[in-house]
Amino acid sequence: MNKKDYYEILGVSPNASDEEIKRAYRRLALQYHPDRNPGNKEAEERFKEISEAYEVLSDPEKRRIYDMYGHEGLEGRGYSTGFSDIDEIFSAFNDIFEDLFGFRTGTRRRARPRQGRSLRYDIEITLEEAYKGIEKEISFERLEVCPECNGIGGKHRITCPNCRGMGQITRSHGFFHISTTCPRCNGEGHIFAEPCPKCRGNGVVRRKKKMNIKIPAGVDTGSQLRIRGEGEPGEYGAAPGDLFIVIHVKEHEFFKREEEHLYCEIPVSFVQAILGDRIRIQLIGDEEVEVEIPPGTQPGSIIKVPGKGMPKLGSTKKGDLFVKIEVTLPKSITKKQRALLEEFAKTEGIKLKGTQKKKKKLWERVIH
Ligand SMILES: [Zn+2]
Ligand SMILES: [Zn+2]
Repeated sequence: MNKKDYYEILGVSPNASDEEIKRAYRRLALQYHPDRNPGNKEAEERFKEISEAYEVLSDPEKRRIYDMYGHEGLEGRGYSTGFSDIDEIFSAFNDIFEDLFGFRTGTRRRARPRQGRSLRYDIEITLEEAYKGIEKEISFERLEVCPECNGIGGKHRITCPNCRGMGQITRSHGFFHISTTCPRCNGEGHIFAEPCPKCRGNGVVRRKKKMNIKIPAGVDTGSQLRIRGEGEPGEYGAAPGDLFIVIHVKEHEFFKREEEHLYCEIPVSFVQAILGDRIRIQLIGDEEVEVEIPPGTQPGSIIKVPGKGMPKLGSTKKGDLFVKIEVTLPKSITKKQRALLEEFAKTEGIKLKGTQKKKKKLWERVIH
């Protein structure tokens, strides 16, 4: 492969002075710097090319060999030429960049894209709302990309004076060296000479966010809705986090829920239980259902009403309704009812005796 001439790449003559070479590189490096051309492969290739040329021509020994023997001369002497990736350039050129631009571009390597934080929002809804599904407006605070500086954080990036661009502070305690992330630049290695006044250089601001969310029918306590990309913004263009809506369904005064099934207790008269009847129950979704109580229903019996429970999440099916029969007894009865019951007792072969007397005795005791 025929490599291009290093002088040509930098656009200088073969007798260019060190100063001229430096100036040429500075101009081209600024033009093709990856920070200025994000995602531009061609610019990246050019940046590698000019950096390789500068790496050789700025070193007197390498330049001498190159002038005499060309590319092969360098390779023959074990000088590796060319850079495989941008990060390699930054790590090799840290000092050069500081010299050229006033900041260490190598710190860019630390800035790995990190996905934004996901957020959790807890919401309480009624059983009716869980039954029908509902759209709700929620409002919460989250970090958003600063609208003032578009998330950059400020103007005029400079090397962090606290850590000298290292992003870390190392302290020695006897034999130990303890490194901590620089608090001034948060490990970035650079700060802004003019930090954005709105976000104070953070690139993000805390803002109140209002949003309409759709809660589907059938959700239960602990159900989570994931809204992609509505969390906090990612760093360095990384994807934002997600928003998780965590559902809590309030207890209902009448219906108890277990997954897609509903349970309730219905008080009926002992007469209804004995003779059988039909009762109407108001369901959650404005619907009524007629429940058949068969003759001879025992207290505590459970009657299953299929398909009248909660909707199943993501399905058109519904669970069942289970009605527990509570038999109630009258606390007082009329003379006529007493006569009828005494008549009933006779048919059952029950002989009632002494109840009146006992009651009277108790009554008298209370009075005195
Ligand atoms: Zn800002
Ligand atoms: Zn620092």
